[in-house]
Amino acid sequence: MCLSITVAGLITTMGKYLLNEKLAHFSEAQVDTFLSRYYQGEKCTPLLAIFAIDVHANAVSQWLPIDTTESAVCPNCGSSMFIKYAKRKSSIKRYQKVMHCNGCEHVPTKFCHCAYCRQKCMDERTAQKLQVSNAISAYCRLNLASVYMESATELSLKHAVALLALVRCCDRLADSTFGALVHATMPFAPNNDWGVNLLRSLMNAKLLSISEGTSEKHFIIESQHIEPRYGYVNWEIQLENIDAIILDIENLCRAGNIPSNWQRDLPKLRQELALAECKELYTFCLDERGLPSEVGAKAEAMLLDILVDHSVAQCYQAIRYAAMRTLDFKTVQRKNNLPVQHYQLPSYMVNTCQNYVDRARLEGLNNKGFSRNAHIPRSMMSVVLYDTLLKMGERGFTEPYHSAVNYTTVKRLYD
Ligand SMILES: [Zn+2]
Ligand SMILES: [Zn+2]
Repeated sequence: MCLSITVAGLITTMGKYLLNEKLAHFSEAQVDTFLSRYYQGEKCTPLLAIFAIDVHANAVSQWLPIDTTESAVCPNCGSSMFIKYAKRKSSIKRYQKVMHCNGCEHVPTKFCHCAYCRQKCMDERTAQKLQVSNAISAYCRLNLASVYMESATELSLKHAVALLALVRCCDRLADSTFGALVHATMPFAPNNDWGVNLLRSLMNAKLLSISEGTSEKHFIIESQHIEPRYGYVNWEIQLENIDAIILDIENLCRAGNIPSNWQRDLPKLRQELALAECKELYTFCLDERGLPSEVGAKAEAMLLDILVDHSVAQCYQAIRYAAMRTLDFKTVQRKNNLPVQHYQLPSYMVNTCQNYVDRARLEGLNNKGFSRNAHIPRSMMSVVLYDTLLKMGERGFTEPYHSAVNYTTVKRLYD
């Protein structure tokens, strides 16, 4: 092996070692013994004294030998690399070696800052960025389509209301491109998974896709999985005749001429919106009091039961009451040094809510209901459904979801 090493102080080849002047008096066996005891963690000062090595204990690693039995070629300049024994680590009782290039500054560790490694790092980062950007583009193109419709009646009720709400919430950036929902002055939908599910439903129906022009920072990428931040991405509405269809939805609403398939789906959509609004307040009231705020399956079933014969406003009243009682329960338990198990509070909240409503039902009381909470503004889905389409306004909030909708009155008014 040909090593043209230029490290200062190297003078002697001894068997498999290249030794510097401080170790030049050693045989190969002595070097073996010294290295073995050094890496076993023996105290440095006595060890150096035993071997008559004239260096300070702190500087010993500089004078350790080079191992000539191993070789490597520098990926940067093609020169031979030499392998030097390196400073021991107190936690690891084994030999430590480090490679150095004989022709350039490269050291094959992740800490090397030579020009070659800096460039390599930059290239890797560029490749990684390209990979991310390609993955995001592919994700955005997943639902790419161009849909043509003769009439808005070809849309389901939910899609028609959601499309009109989306168009009203988002700034129009180009023909079919709309800006992020986060910039809207009014929320698109109640702040929970219902709004996301509406957007996903439009995407699955190929009516909507995420604009490829969206900044990459609005996507969460975790182990190959891409999740858009739905409030922050830009949107493409994929209707060829988007303006005509939006106008058609508005005309149908204005005329009160609600297609029969939309009428059929009304109770379901009103129920979904009511539940989403109740879940939003439920989470808010519990968060506000520092209580566990996840709406589990039991809570959702309880809310649906209340909504059968109660308005969202009345449900708000039950939720507010139950949240206050749940906090009282926690406080009293703590005061009496009684444990509060993690499952107790959600369960207490659900039961108190249900009992409140059951008692009212039993005693025939009519809860007057709360108004909207200032921190939970009305959503555009509610405005489109109850103001634009049904002309009921906030009666959608103060009446149960299956309360009568007077289609004829609506029709006569606008004919
Ligand atoms: Zn090199
Ligand atoms: Zn390097």
